Amino acid sequence: MAAQLARVRWGAVFAAAQKGPRVSCRRWAGASADNVYDVVVSGGGLVGAAMACALGHDIHFCDKKILLLEAGPKKVLEKLPETYSNRVSSISPGSATLLSSFGAWDHICNMRYRAFRRMQVWDACSEALIMFDKDNLDDMGYIVENDVIMHALTKQLEAVSDRVTVLYKSKAISYTWPYPFSMADSSPWVHITLGDGRTLQTKLLIGADGHNSGVRQAAGIRNVSWNYDQSAVVATLHLSEATENNVAWQRFLPSGPIALLPLSDTLSSLVWSTSHEHAAELVSMEEEEFVDAINSAFWSDVNHTDFIDSAGSMLQSAVAFLKPTRVSARQLPPSVARVDAKSRVLFPLGLGHAAEYVRPRLALIGDAAHRVHPLAGQGVNMGFGDISSLLHHLSTAAFNGKDLGLPSSCCSGPGACRLQMQCLHSK
Ligand SMILES: Cc1cc2nc3c(=O)[nH]c(=O)nc-3n(C[C@H](O)[C@H](O)[C@H](O)COP(=O)(O)OP(=O)(O)OC[C@H]3O[C@@H](n4cnc5c(N)ncnc54)[C@H](O)[C@@H]3O)c2cc1C
Repeated sequence: MAAQLARVRWGAVFAAAQKGPRVSCRRWAGASADNVYDVVVSGGGLVGAAMACALGHDIHFCDKKILLLEAGPKKVLEKLPETYSNRVSSISPGSATLLSSFGAWDHICNMRYRAFRRMQVWDACSEALIMFDKDNLDDMGYIVENDVIMHALTKQLEAVSDRVTVLYKSKAISYTWPYPFSMADSSPWVHITLGDGRTLQTKLLIGADGHNSGVRQAAGIRNVSWNYDQSAVVATLHLSEATENNVAWQRFLPSGPIALLPLSDTLSSLVWSTSHEHAAELVSMEEEEFVDAINSAFWSDVNHTDFIDSAGSMLQSAVAFLKPTRVSARQLPPSVARVDAKSRVLFPLGLGHAAEYVRPRLALIGDAAHRVHPLAGQGVNMGFGDISSLLHHLSTAAFNGKDLGLPSSCCSGPGACRLQMQCLHSK
């Protein structure tokens, strides 16, 4: 009875200390070594699969048991399809370095990707323009199909199958948290129940299960979120003629940004963020009309007004006088000739941010922790940033023989991990 009272009281203290809703705890039914993992990553999208790969290839994790749970099927490309996928990501050099650190980037290079060296972002209502130019320098980023990244990660997971178990078509349906203090009859680990009834335990649960994260919800971590009143239309586009095609183009229209990302000399990928109604129109219109709409969105000056033009040039002259800088020449984007059949799809857009990334025995990464508008092409790059940060702390903790599930193993001090992640993201 006394033990029960203490449990209740400490449960309340712990929940209050966490400043979040109380989470459910359970008695320990006993654990066989077989179903206890050092780390379980729940969600094998780009971020979760990369997290499991990074841990599996880390030298300090060589004696650890890691499990990756993915609700969907295994995704391998038996053969690289001739047709490009309509789902692509702009990958930053920092993310490429992370993928290289565990061998996945080599697979991507052996398959296909496109480097870009410039980025031109300009306004449809004025002459405002910004050019990011890395001519003669390193690549500014890479456009890679999501399927290609996933294939590379799957290959690298297979390479460490002795320490990383991957369960595909395995959905986690509930998570139960341990008591915050040690009790003779309580399990110290997180319990996970799968859709088929199996149960597992882990010392550290990493939630990488996307923006509707079940891990985040089960932990009662608050999430600030809202839906943008926009959808993004994606498609694979054929250019009118072959070009060097090493520029990422983005124009801000009154209804939202439209971007053209290079895939090859003759192909580019479209991401057009606009109102839901317009997006629905764009995906259902005739091909010719769709292509005209894209060309006009990039080329037309119909949204220009004399007032904004002259105010803009006055401001530009004043800035040039005060701080003379080299002005990059405006370039015209390539024109589009046609669209790949069936490549036009729309995605409703939203924002989300978890109030906490790390708790005892829990860390959130990727869209489970933060979901952003795709206009800056940063969503998966931020997820890869989370991996670099978390890996650094977990690897050090493993080297020092510390408990991986303690927040001090996931960050170097109270709040430091979150801060570090935020710093990483702002770089
Ligand atoms: C149109 C568009 C363009 C974009 N372009 C870019 C870009 O250029 N660059 C960039 O950096 N980002 C881009 N993004 C963002 C990027 O796609 C996301 O940030 C990224 O895919 C998130 O990956 P994730 O692994 O965190 O989540 P998800 O991709 O959502 O993966 C979550 C995984 O968890 C699994 N899962 C869910 N629940 C469970 C469960 N209970 N048990 C087991 N498994 C589960 C799911 O099956 C899924 O595989 C873009 C997004 C959109 C919509």
